[in-house]
Amino acid sequence: MNREGVTMHSTEQSLAGKIAIVTGAASGIGAGIAGLFAVHGCRVVIADIDKVAGQTTAQELGENGLFCHLDVTSEESWRQLMARVNEHWGALDILVNNAGIGSAESIEDVDIALWQQILAVNTTGVFLGCRSAIQSMKHSGGGSIINISSALGLRPLSSTPAYGASKAAVVNLTKSTALQCAEKGYQIRCNAINPGFIRTPLLENALAVAEDPDALLKGYSDLHPMGSIGSIEDVAQAALFLAADGSRFITGIAMPVDGGMTI
Ligand code: NAP
Repeated sequence: MNREGVTMHSTEQSLAGKIAIVTGAASGIGAGIAGLFAVHGCRVVIADIDKVAGQTTAQELGENGLFCHLDVTSEESWRQLMARVNEHWGALDILVNNAGIGSAESIEDVDIALWQQILAVNTTGVFLGCRSAIQSMKHSGGGSIINISSALGLRPLSSTPAYGASKAAVVNLTKSTALQCAEKGYQIRCNAINPGFIRTPLLENALAVAEDPDALLKGYSDLHPMGSIGSIEDVAQAALFLAADGSRFITGIAMPVDGGMTI
């Protein structure tokens, strides 16, 4: 530590001994976050609706990985998950509410069933996750909740009203959760990350079926002033920062990881 009390080594980024749940961690951004957390000494629960891919991701983490089935839209599924994690590893330190689904239908085209499905996974899923984590963390000394929103929750596009609304709701929910925990003195922080377009299997699939993949990728890239879409690693590094003790005085933020898309 120097004269100003600033720690001069990197233990502030360590997650050694901590226990995390990452939802939707079978693939994409969630799998990347889980992998980076494990590298930093965290035991990580891969909580996903996809059993096969989830088990594979958990196995890749060795002793630091555990797969648990979770449907984020179901209160009962959350109850079972929390009980299993507590029984297997003990008290939860970190929850990353990452599971999400996309949609690209304009306000004139989106039907009510799709609207409700997007809100159920992307918004209700995060609400149930935050509530479950608070119930556990408030009795175990606190923790960090990280909600994966989207740049589209801050800057809408005409093509994604349901997705954008669901992700904007996550920003507001994050802030009210952060306030509640601070006011109650729970030592629980709650922050959101707002990624721009990120190269994940989801995006690769869209490119694979596009008439002109190069034009589509250029269109996505042009939305970002820095000139390209982001990587899974870009989002995972932001999650690591918000999970670790180095960010102990940060709560209620919506952190863009978007190459300037929301400036
Ligand atoms: P992804 O590769 O499709 O991964 C999402 C995972 O969540 C999948 O394994 C999926 O399983 C799972 N899932 C879906 N519904 C679920 C449910 N009800 N309960 C539990 N798990 C469920 O997506 P991604 O691109 O990594 O995105 C991860 C998060 O980042 C999402 O919240 C997304 O909105 C957000 N985000 C992504 C981007 C981007 O450009 N990729 C940009 C901004 C924000 P199935 O495959 O079986 O559905």
